[in-house]
This record gives sequence, structure tokens and C-alpha cells, in this order.
Amino acid sequence: MKIAVLPGDGIGTEIVAEAVKVLNTLDLKFEMETALVGGAAYDAYGHPLPEDTLKLAMASDAVLFGAVGDWKYDKLDRPLRPEQAILGLRKNMGLFANFRPAICYEQLVGASSLKPELISGLDILIIRELTGDIYFGQPRGRRIATDGHFPGAEEAFDTMRYSKPEIERIAHVAFQAARKRKAAGSEGRVTSVDKANVLETFQFWKDVVTEVGKEYPDIALDHMYVDNAAMQLVKEPKRFDVVVTGNMFGDILSDEASMLTGSIGMLPSASLNTKSQGLYEPSHGSAPDIAGKGVANPLATILSAAMMLRFSLNQPEAAERIEAAVQKVLSQGLRTGDIWSEGTTKVGTAQMGDAVVKAMR
Ligand code: NAD
Repeated sequence: MKIAVLPGDGIGTEIVAEAVKVLNTLDLKFEMETALVGGAAYDAYGHPLPEDTLKLAMASDAVLFGAVGDWKYDKLDRPLRPEQAILGLRKNMGLFANFRPAICYEQLVGASSLKPELISGLDILIIRELTGDIYFGQPRGRRIATDGHFPGAEEAFDTMRYSKPEIERIAHVAFQAARKRKAAGSEGRVTSVDKANVLETFQFWKDVVTEVGKEYPDIALDHMYVDNAAMQLVKEPKRFDVVVTGNMFGDILSDEASMLTGSIGMLPSASLNTKSQGLYEPSHGSAPDIAGKGVANPLATILSAAMMLRFSLNQPEAAERIEAAVQKVLSQGLRTGDIWSEGTTKVGTAQMGDAVVKAMR
């Protein structure tokens, strides 16, 4: 089981260290190799995704990723910005399906900005397509300056496109995930989110998803416009089971869904290719505002490691052991600052990691 460990920037190094600690507690043999990515790699090698880092990732069963980015790189030309490393990894590894579960832990019901009754028991899965859409269309702008902006330009545009096989592939992933969840007690429903009323690309998306849906008669399918989906997620989040959508809408909706449960510091994610090779990372970014202070919540990264064990390394029991340990530390009242509330005990990043290790033992 070979794992490429790419901590990245900001809090990335702090939270990944805790996830590695947790993995090392398991009675499993991993080959872990660490490499630079993002701003850290740019500083060292002049590129956010150096050849060696990419090679390591491609040759591994899974990538455990922290986060990349810092405001200080905003002036760089777009291809050199830290965030490009993620796009490069997705593209080269063929990672097309992004899974973001939004699960509300009962112990954290009070940390959500929504009323407890709206989110208590929430367990939804957002599946975002990762390799198509406007993020991989053709950007057009007049690059006069090298600071990433277009002074003097009259217009700029990006093209949105999806091919039939790309939509079919992600639709199958969504229906199969809904089927698995149904077997475990969920409703068995896929909500496909689009903007078919305005965009040709998404009328096409809707038609293709509908066609694929016919192969899954046991799973209900409904369609929702993205603006309505954004509203329904905060109005009545429990009405969803599996949500499938394109790259840009998924980017936005998955962040919205993640905040429903209280803190972005709690939410793991997995990005998979057709060979179950995957990149596992917390849903949040590098949080430069709290980097280096030892206060970041490592649980999203620890839970991402659990997803890695389940999806790429075929170790579901080890995944459950980690998830149960996270539940246990929350029940013990331990909280990092982002999920802290009156009556609970505030702990730092390393203390939280240590508590999970202890709970596992
Ligand atoms: P962010 O997710 O880094 O931070 C948003 C807010 O959430 C901040 O107040 C931060 O302190 C808090 N936060 C995030 N993770 C936390 C954690 N584990 N524990 C406690 N608090 C946490 O988003 P941002 O501030 O918009 O972006 C910062 C940088 O991260 C930017 O350079 C951005 O491009 C990059 N980014 C990277 C990724 C990624 O690596 N996948 C994703 C999103 C943003």
C-alpha cells in the first residue's frame, strides 16, 4: 500500500502530520513517501507540481493531500499558482469523481449555523464531476501583464463543455453510490443539479443523466436547477441523498454543504479515477490566517485518510476504526477552535490527533 504524502502549504503540514500519526497507529504496513506540492514546491523548484511529485503520485495507490495556496502567490501567472497543482494531479491521474460526504455528528449539532432540527441526522453525499466543465474549457483573455490580470482588455471568457462519456461516467458513479447507500438504509435517490434552463451544456447533462438513470430503476432520480439547489441545501438539507453535478456547481455546492455541519474543518473528500486510485484531502484550504499556530482542526484530514483506506486501499475495517475514534473524541468533548462551544474542551491540532490515536488504542 503505497501512499504519496503531499502536505502542501499553510495548515497542510500540520493537519497531514496528524493523519499520518493516525495511519501509523493501525496494524497495517504502508509505504509512505512525502513530497512538496503547491507554494512550497514553487518556492523550492519554481513549479507547484514538480515532475518528481507528479511521478510519485502517479506511482502510488493513493495520495494523502493537505492543502495548497497562500495570498502571497496571487501575483503569479495562473499556471504557476499553487492551486494549479491540484488541477494537474486531477488531470494526470484521471481523477474524475469527487466525493464529499456531509455528515452531521450529533455532538456537533450546535456548531452549525442552521437550526438543530434541520441538520440533526444529516447524511448526504455530494458528487462533483472533476475533469470537464468551464474549469477545463478554453480560457480567453489578453495577457498583457504577467501578474495574472488583464489591464486594458475589453473582454475575457471561458468555454463550458461536457462530453457524453464524461457525463455518463459520473452519472454511473452517482447511481452506484446511491445504491450502496440504499443498502445501508438511505433513501436511494440521486438529485442531478444543472442549469438546463439557461445553458446548453446542462440541458445535455440533464438528458444524459436521465438516460443513464434508466439503468437504475431502483434509484429515484430528480433534477434541480443549481440556484434552487443552493437554496434547498440551507432550507431543507435532509431532502437530499446523493447529489451529482458538474465541476463548477459542485465546487460551490460542496462548500455550502460542508458548512451545514458546523465546520469546514470536519469534512473529508475523495477524488477517484476508474482504477480506484485516489487523492484524499480535507474540503478546506490552507487557511493562511491560522497557519503555524497549531490550532487547525485535523479531523477532516484524518477522516480523509479513513476514506482512503475504504476506497483505494480496501481496508474498510481500518476506516471504521478511525471514524469510530473520531466520534469518541467528540463525545469526550474535545474540540478545536472552529467547533468549540461553551462546556467543551478546547484543544490544539496535535492534541486532537493524539486523542484520536488514544481512542483507537
Ligand atoms: P480556507 O478553507 O483555507 O479557509 C477559510 C476559513 O476556514 C478560514 O477562516 C480558516 O481559518 C478556516 N479553516 C479552514 N480549514 C480549517 C481547519 N482545518 N481548522 C480550522 N479552521 C479552518 O479558504 P480560503 O481562506 O478561501 O483560502 C486560503 C487559501 O487556500 C487560498 O490560497 C486558496 O486558494 C486555497 N485553497 C486551497 C484548497 C485546496 O488546497 N484544495 C481549497 C480551497 C482553498
